[in-house]
Amino acid sequence: ELERLLSYKDQKAASKDGYEVEVVGNMGNLADVDPILENGGEGVGLFRSEFLYMDRDQLPTEEEQFEVYKEVAEKMGERPVVIRTLDVGGDKDIPYLDFPAEMNPFLGYRAIRVCLERDDIFKPQLRALLRASNYGNLKIMFPMISSVRELLAAKSKLAEVKTELEKEGHKFNQNIEVGMMIEIPAAVMIADHLAKEVDFFSIGTNDLIQYTVAVDRTNEKIAKMHTPYHPAVLRLIKQTISAAHEAGIWVGMCGEAAGDELLLPFLLGAGLDEFSMSAVSILKIKEILSQWEKSEAESEVAEILALSTVAEVKDYLTKLKK
Ligand code: PEP
Ligand code: MG
Repeated sequence: ELERLLSYKDQKAASKDGYEVEVVGNMGNLADVDPILENGGEGVGLFRSEFLYMDRDQLPTEEEQFEVYKEVAEKMGERPVVIRTLDVGGDKDIPYLDFPAEMNPFLGYRAIRVCLERDDIFKPQLRALLRASNYGNLKIMFPMISSVRELLAAKSKLAEVKTELEKEGHKFNQNIEVGMMIEIPAAVMIADHLAKEVDFFSIGTNDLIQYTVAVDRTNEKIAKMHTPYHPAVLRLIKQTISAAHEAGIWVGMCGEAAGDELLLPFLLGAGLDEFSMSAVSILKIKEILSQWEKSEAESEVAEILALSTVAEVKDYLTKLKK
């Protein structure tokens, strides 16, 4: 099986009839880069920058961050690397930031909400990202966007940092792509507005499911309810892809669901452009992709979206399996 899978390593990810998508990797730290390449990843669809902030006792400096982003960019060469700005809060606590305990951390002070209030955190990261954009194909992504206001505020901070860097004589990619995570149902509902302001979306199903079905993603007792097969989740995914394409931008997925073998025909058929997953899933997903014709997958989407229960969806997808 390994030998068979390895034949996909250097093959462009594509459906049976040659429709190309990107199959890329998720990473949390530098040690994750080689496995992505070894497994035929075509880039990085999500670099969770949190690790730079954890297991230490103060904020990482601009220089420290620059070195890490630069290294990833260089290792990936021309391949795209999507770096997500800090997503602290929720279940990711950073002790030295001393945020007060909250009743509902997942609904609380986290991610972009923190960054927009804290220039001392956000600006060094944006500066490091821009400076590192000289060394590869970097893209910037904002997490937990729930409104146009937040997106515009984040973009305006980025513009401010660009001006500063320019004045200081730093080189960087002026046209660096800027995207946002779609992981809050509100963002799906206004995806048409948001899409006008970014170059791409990436669907974060881990949080999107949590907020849609109201099920804590870390609570074992209700883990069964945290599933992408819920019809509401499938509809939100479809809606996001359609809104992105209507606005002419590309859309990826970097939640666990992107590497879900059963879900692949639905995602391919719905038009997802980029699938980002842990390195171990990449070869398998490339193989399954190669077994499906795009039009065949497309013809299943309406059927799947008409199903009314998780069990029906699961059954239906299981029967589709090749
Ligand atoms: C997600 O929410 O699906 C996601 C990819 O982000 P994280 O798991 O880091 O919250
Ligand atoms: Mg998330």
